Amino acid sequence: MSQRQHRVVSGARISGRLHVGNFLGAIANWVRLQDSYECFFFCADWHGLTTGYEDTEAFMQQKEETFLDILACGLDPERCVFFVQSDVKEHAELYLLLSLITPLGWLERVPTYKEQLQQMTGREITTHGFLGYPVLQSADVLLYGGELVPVGEDQLPHLELCREISRRFNHLYRPILPEPQALLTKTPNLVGIDGRKMSKSYGNEIPVGASADEIKQRVSMMVTDPQRVRRTDPGDPDVCTVHRFHGFFGSEQATVAQGCREASIGCVECKKRLAAALWEYLAPIWERKQDLRENPQRLQDIRQEGATKARQVAQDMLVEVRSAMRIG
Ligand code: SF4
Repeated sequence: MSQRQHRVVSGARISGRLHVGNFLGAIANWVRLQDSYECFFFCADWHGLTTGYEDTEAFMQQKEETFLDILACGLDPERCVFFVQSDVKEHAELYLLLSLITPLGWLERVPTYKEQLQQMTGREITTHGFLGYPVLQSADVLLYGGELVPVGEDQLPHLELCREISRRFNHLYRPILPEPQALLTKTPNLVGIDGRKMSKSYGNEIPVGASADEIKQRVSMMVTDPQRVRRTDPGDPDVCTVHRFHGFFGSEQATVAQGCREASIGCVECKKRLAAALWEYLAPIWERKQDLRENPQRLQDIRQEGATKARQVAQDMLVEVRSAMRIG
């Protein structure tokens, strides 16, 4: 069987503007995979709602923007099926059916559940929806008979849960669901402009669709070596966020590191070079985004066509599922 015959399923959770961390960690990988596998990719808007259910208006805007951003990153709707999760209501039905057979204990022991409960203070997320979102993730994959799921190491427990749910279903009824395997993806350790993990909730991200001016402004705010007070002080690039970014974008990391240690380059110049390298990297995405934005009808067609293709496969799977359960 060729790689192309294997089915890959993956979703991007909507939570604010897509940033360069999301791009390097997931979307760039999608763009590569679309040529090698049969791919189903989607904007996971219902997942975003599990924590963002209060401000739904802002959320709807983010959804449109994320769909646009992902296309601008180079995803080609001719070479993969790309859609919005909530446009295919079959996800909700399979989620419900799988939730019937998923023991609560399996969900409570998912490591990220407890972690996020501790981290997301100030938000009421002790809800059924938040506890159950790994079941929704499982439904997302199994609905398309997903065989491979691109995941980082931290997502492996979720995939294992999906496999357990699949096994339980196959044991209780009939063996029709796959046990998806991990397509392990290296997640680059890219931090935000303040040196913490890049995240919309920290406000430290660089959006993937940023303009040249926005990039300059975000880079100018990056934290540097706090011990380097004067231009003439030698610095330590190993503790500097700007230096880390140079390692991901452009080819000047070694040059600026030496210049920093010898105090032959100042932080202003170092940031200027980074902003230029970042813009060179992101400009094609920004340009594609402008083109797509100018053609809203085309964007709407892409979204509808993606949903139609996804729904056909999803409906066939649900016929099988209902039949196996003897409920339809
Ligand atoms: S010169 Fe560059 S690497 Fe050194 S502290 Fe300044 S911004 Fe960081």
